[in-house]
Amino acid sequence: AKSQKSSYCQFYQSDMVVATADQIRLETWLRYALERNEFEVYYQPQLNLRTGRIEAAEALIRWKHPEMGYISPGQFIPLAEETGLIISIGQWVLETACKQARQWHDMNLGLRHMSVNLSSVQFNQGTLSQQIAHTIKNTGLSPHMIELEITETALMQDANAAIRTLNELKDLGMRLAVDDFGTGYSSLGYLQKLPIDTLKIDNCFVRGVTTDHKNQVILQSAIQMGHDLGLCIVAEGVETMDEQSFLEAYQCDFVQGYLIGKPMNAAQLQAYLEQRLAL
Ligand code: C2E
Ligand code: CA
Ligand code: CA
Ligand code: CA
Repeated sequence: AKSQKSSYCQFYQSDMVVATADQIRLETWLRYALERNEFEVYYQPQLNLRTGRIEAAEALIRWKHPEMGYISPGQFIPLAEETGLIISIGQWVLETACKQARQWHDMNLGLRHMSVNLSSVQFNQGTLSQQIAHTIKNTGLSPHMIELEITETALMQDANAAIRTLNELKDLGMRLAVDDFGTGYSSLGYLQKLPIDTLKIDNCFVRGVTTDHKNQVILQSAIQMGHDLGLCIVAEGVETMDEQSFLEAYQCDFVQGYLIGKPMNAAQLQAYLEQRLAL
């Protein structure tokens, strides 16, 4: 039935993790991936619907194993979190993305900020804000050019600790986004306590929005509520022009998805930005 589409949204569950032989092998590889330079950061453009310009990009990690080829972040990020390797991997992504943002900023390519994902493991690490402050200072980037994305689920684990950490990051001048919004049951009262700038609406609500009435209602009210709280709204996973038109009609601020551009390597995104500026 039509109305079942929204059930594709995956709500939070703590899954039991079973260590299979494959996983143990993957873990061994993961330990060496950083020093063997097997990671790369890809960038996905975000379109400002009001100005029609690409004004932001999200950094997304890619792992290319010499024999296995590409291994998706959905597979190795959970493992990196369990093993604690996410701390050094996440730090590397942040550094790489900051350096890249600095370079593109100096080239006047129109990017106002770069979004970087933070794992809950990084987020709950006591020294996070000092580390980030250090990285930002080293790259000479202004802090407001980096937007940190933290999932709604990670923010709900320990609400008071989350508010404290977010305030520390906000004091550094960074932009903060709630990622995968809508999948974690956080309340309006909680959201308004957070010093956040952006809500990223999970792609499961965008998918099929043109035919699924439930998703239409969810999107519309999330945008309305976000705007009432003074937040910028980004919809992710936009694949069709119909989806984009809906979001535009609902006054969503930014869209991100295959329709606008897939995640691409630095050289490709740079060429894409230059080409759009020349239009
Ligand atoms: P996310 O942060 O929700 O990122 C969005 C995911 O949706 C990305 O998958 C992106 O490639 C994909 N996507 C973008 N547009 C579309 C679209 O139009 N249609 C569809 N079907 N998918 C789209 P990706 O790159 O495989 O990353 C998956 C997840 O892995 C991310 O979800 C994020 O949670 C995590 N991740 C990726 N890079 C990092 C990182 O550097 N650090 C951390 N902690 N997590 C990361
Ligand atoms: Ca994200
Ligand atoms: Ca997301
Ligand atoms: Ca997601």
